[in-house]
Amino acid sequence: MRPLIVDALASGRGKRQATRDVIGAGPRSLAGVLEGEGMKPQITVAETVLDGELDLGDFDFLLASGMTTDLQAIRRVTSTWKKTSGSPVLVGGPVASEPERSLTKTYADISVIGEGEQTLKELLELGLHRGRLPDPEVLKRVRGITYFDGVVHFNPLRPAMRRREYDSLVPSTATIVDYPLFRSSRVYVEALRGCSNYGRARIAADTKICEGCRRCDEGDLEGRYDCPQGISPGCGYCSVPSLFGPPKSRSADKIVQEVEELLSRGVKRVVLSAPGFLDYGRDLLVEPRPLTDPRHPEPNYQILDELLSKLSELSGFQDRKASFFIENMKGNLVTERAAEILGRHLEGTPVNVGFETGSMTHTAQLGRASTPEENLKAVLRLKREGLRPYVYFIHGLPGQNPENARETVETIDRCVASGASRIILYRFQPLPMSAFHGMPKAPPAEKDLIGKSIYRAAQRANRTLKENLVGQTVRVVIAERYRRDKRFHVAYPLHHGPVVLVEGFEGSEGSVVDVEIVGVVSDRMVRGRLCDGMF
Ligand code: SF4
Repeated sequence: MRPLIVDALASGRGKRQATRDVIGAGPRSLAGVLEGEGMKPQITVAETVLDGELDLGDFDFLLASGMTTDLQAIRRVTSTWKKTSGSPVLVGGPVASEPERSLTKTYADISVIGEGEQTLKELLELGLHRGRLPDPEVLKRVRGITYFDGVVHFNPLRPAMRRREYDSLVPSTATIVDYPLFRSSRVYVEALRGCSNYGRARIAADTKICEGCRRCDEGDLEGRYDCPQGISPGCGYCSVPSLFGPPKSRSADKIVQEVEELLSRGVKRVVLSAPGFLDYGRDLLVEPRPLTDPRHPEPNYQILDELLSKLSELSGFQDRKASFFIENMKGNLVTERAAEILGRHLEGTPVNVGFETGSMTHTAQLGRASTPEENLKAVLRLKREGLRPYVYFIHGLPGQNPENARETVETIDRCVASGASRIILYRFQPLPMSAFHGMPKAPPAEKDLIGKSIYRAAQRANRTLKENLVGQTVRVVIAERYRRDKRFHVAYPLHHGPVVLVEGFEGSEGSVVDVEIVGVVSDRMVRGRLCDGMF
């Protein structure tokens, strides 16, 4: 039995334009479930299917995943599939958190909401392993799916997995080679899933209005889980707690084993994925209770250090022929001790601290865990320990007004003074299953007076922060020939920095080389000259 997994991440209408160097963890996790059932799954990207480079007749069913913005790519993939095959089509990933839309727009048979692994296992047992859909009468009982049977049926959600169940999953490492450019891509490896922020946004998206019971702020860990008014947990703009529940950490040995296998297959850049990396191991401190408090207990320093130490010892990282990063963290958990541990293992790498707003009042309205002051302190501490803090803001959020926008502009300036390496500004987009679902998407910053003030502040700050890399030597991983000018190869810095165009390279993808930066092409791209030697 040969299932095909199509990873449509960032494919938009069908072709990946941005973040070409990112490989998410979800498709490999599903491939691991299929391998565990004795199957030989193959992963591909939407582009490969749409370019007709794959014989779809070789496969027995299709799993397609992507973001809500990838709906069109997924629809094109499923309609291509349906021209050649009557076999089942399942869609999953963030796109499925709008289940009706994901079914009716893509013509898939089943939409899998939230964590897909257990649902997939159950569907396999019920007949999918023979390449057939279970009968509608049977499908009725499968939690976590929406399916089409003349009309759209919504089944109840599947409860989030418990830690042990989650930790028993074995993501596929064999299928990493199915991805184009896997040697040079940032390959995501899950360290933990879920989020500890069970606070709630106080801006109502619909008729759900906070009645002020304070359970989500002051209740015990179980009490915080549910809001009597049914307001979705977490920051209002985020759907992670609704989709994945409170944090559950994978054991360090399993993460290390997965990373080691990926390195042995040629991967050079690994990202430990976690909605908040400093939640790693905190769940163990309160187990079996759910970790629904984003502040207490403090980070699990011992487990954090153990994971990062074991990873640092892997020979690929020791030889500096490969690198690993972390991404997001909650500013309130960046204690002196946490920053010191991160600095010891991740010096020189970027870390993300989300502010989203610079206003304390707005922070509380959004249901955020950390305050702007805590985030600023986190930036200072991380910078002092040798990391490169990237800070995040969102313009056009519900509740944005001239006063809190002014505070955000001030905070952006304070981030620069505190040691931020880069300001990243997003435009608010309401996510399904978040508290702000149904609210209007923000207008482009340039078309909105308040949004524009934040946008300009971020631009100004980034100009100040722009590093002059010219003359510096940077270690990069070669990816592919530059499409616009074949004399160059696109390469990604092993640790951080802009895309590098390398002239005169003769070798293969995944080669690690040192280059001297000789010029600036654009905001995000520089030109490099090969130094002697390859690693
Ligand atoms: S649990 Fe719900 S009703 Fe109670 S304070 Fe939190 S948001 Fe308000």
